[in-house]
Amino acid sequence: MAVSDTAITIAPEVQKFIGETRKMLIDGKWVDAASGKTFEVYNPATGEVMAHVAEGDAEDINRAVRAARRAFDDGPWRKMSPSQRGRCISRLADLIEQHGEEFAQLESLDNGKPLTVARVADIPLSVDLFRYMSGWATKIEGNTIPISAGNYFAYTLREPIGVVGQIIPWNFPLLMAAWKLGPALAAGCAIVLKPAEQTPLSALKLGELVKEAGIPDGVVNIVPGFGETAGAALAAHPEVDKVAFTGSTEVGKLIVQAAAGNLKKVSLELGGKSPNIIMKDVDVATAVAGASFSIFFNHGQCCSAGSRLYVEREVFDQVVEGVAEQAKKIRLGSGFDPTTDMGPLVSDEQLQRVTGYLESGISSGARPLSGGERHGEQGYFVKPTVLVDVRQDMKVVQEEIFGPVVVAQPFKELDEILPVANDTVYGLAAGIWTRDLSKAHRLAASLRAGTVWINCYNVFDAALPFGGYKQSGWGREMGHEVLENYTEVKSVCIGL
Ligand code: NAP
Ligand code: MG
Repeated sequence: MAVSDTAITIAPEVQKFIGETRKMLIDGKWVDAASGKTFEVYNPATGEVMAHVAEGDAEDINRAVRAARRAFDDGPWRKMSPSQRGRCISRLADLIEQHGEEFAQLESLDNGKPLTVARVADIPLSVDLFRYMSGWATKIEGNTIPISAGNYFAYTLREPIGVVGQIIPWNFPLLMAAWKLGPALAAGCAIVLKPAEQTPLSALKLGELVKEAGIPDGVVNIVPGFGETAGAALAAHPEVDKVAFTGSTEVGKLIVQAAAGNLKKVSLELGGKSPNIIMKDVDVATAVAGASFSIFFNHGQCCSAGSRLYVEREVFDQVVEGVAEQAKKIRLGSGFDPTTDMGPLVSDEQLQRVTGYLESGISSGARPLSGGERHGEQGYFVKPTVLVDVRQDMKVVQEEIFGPVVVAQPFKELDEILPVANDTVYGLAAGIWTRDLSKAHRLAASLRAGTVWINCYNVFDAALPFGGYKQSGWGREMGHEVLENYTEVKSVCIGL
C-alpha cells in the first residue's frame, strides 16, 4: 500500500532494533535459540519481511523455566521487600514512558495499527497498568480468621503462586504483556512470557528495560516462538505452577488439557462475540459513533469488539446506515501514514480468515451495507463492513470474526432481545445504549457478560476487572481481582 508524502519516518533507534536479529531473554541474558533457528516477522502493511527473531522451542522453554524456578525458589526476588518490588515495577512504568515513541513505532510496524492509536492507547495504557500494579505490591494481605473449632489463633497468608507461564496474542502486543507481567510481578512471581509469533518486537524491547528497572535476572524471561512448539511446551511444563493465556477459545481449551499433567493453575482470557444493544430513545448520532467505535477500533481485532449490533426497529435503518456511512469514510493505509484511520489486519492468515467469513455470510444471504471484501492487493487490508439481513444461525453471527465486521439485526421488544443477546458460547462484554436508566440496569444484570458498557464502549482501566463468562474465559485481568490469579492462600493455625 502506498503511503502519503507526509508518512512518518521510522526513528533511527527503531530501525536499529528491527535491523538486528533479536534474541530471547533468559536469566537476564540475551541468547540465541538452542536450535540456532530464527523466524521472520512481517510488516502487515506491505506483507514484506521486516525483522528476524530467535525461534524458541521446548529446549528454550526448559532453560527459561529453570531460570525462573531459580529466581523464585532461591533468588533475590522473594527476599526483596514488597516496597522494593513495587519500586521496580514503578521504574519499569517510567522507562516505558520514556521510550514511549519507540514502543509506539514498534507496535505500529509489527501489528499494523496506526501509530497515532499506539501513541494514545497501547503505550499509555501499558504504563498505567504497571503503575497501578506497582501499588499493589505493598497491599497484598492475608486475614485473621475467628474460628470456632477451639482455642486457636488463625490467620491467612497470601503468597506468590510461583513460576508463571504467560502466553499472549498479537492484537495489543505490549498491553497484553503489561496485563500479564504487572500483576505477576506485584505478587512476587517469576515469569516466562511467550509473545505472539506475529508481534514479538515490543515484548523484546520491554525485556531490555527489565534489568534497568532493577528486576533481578531470571524473574522475567521472554521466549518468542510458535504456539504449537514454545507455547505448548510452556503450558505443559511440569515445573510451571500456573499458566495465564489470552487468545482464542480453541487454543484456550488446548491450554487446559496441557495444564492437566501437573494440574497447574490456569487463567484464560478468550474470545467474544459481544452484543451491542441500541434502544430507540437514544441520540442516534451518539449511538452511531459508539457502535462504529465498538467494532472498528483496532480493526475489530479486540476480544471485546461489539460485533453483534441489535437495534430497536424504529431506529434500525438510521443507525445501520449511519454506521455504514462511517465505515465508508474510514481511510485505510499504513500505520505510519498520519492520514490513516485503520491499518491492515495483522497477518495473511487473519486476512484469509476474515474474508472467508465475509464470503460465508454473503453467500448465505447477508447483505453488506459497506465493505464486504478485501481492500487493495498489497498488505492485509479489509474494508470495514456492516452486514444486514443476517440470521441468528449464521456463522457470521455465532463465531468470532476478529476483524472490522459487524452484523446488525432489528428487534421489537427488549424481552425478545435478551435471550438472543445471550445466545452464543461467549460472554465477554456487552454494550447498551439508552437514556432509560431502569432498563439499562435491568439489562446489565441479565446479560451473561464479564463487562457491560452503558452509553460507552471499549473503556479499559487498570482498576476495572475484565474477563469472561462462559467460554470467554476463567478469572479476571486487572483490578485487584487479577491478583487472585497469581497468589495462593495459606491458612496458618496456632493452638493456644
Ligand atoms: P491463538 O492461536 O489463540 O494465539 C494466541 C497465543 O497462543 C499466541 O501466542 C499463540 O502462538 C499461542 N498458541 C497457539 N497455539 C498454542 C498451543 N497449542 N499451545 C500454547 N500456545 C499456543 O490465536 P491466533 O491464531 O493468533 O488467532 C486466531 C483467532 O483467535 C482470532 O481470529 C481471534 O478470533 C482469536 N483471538 C482472540 C484474542 C483475544 O484477545 N481474546 C486475541 C487473538 C486472537 P502463535 O503466535 O505462534 O500462534
Ligand atoms: Mg496461532
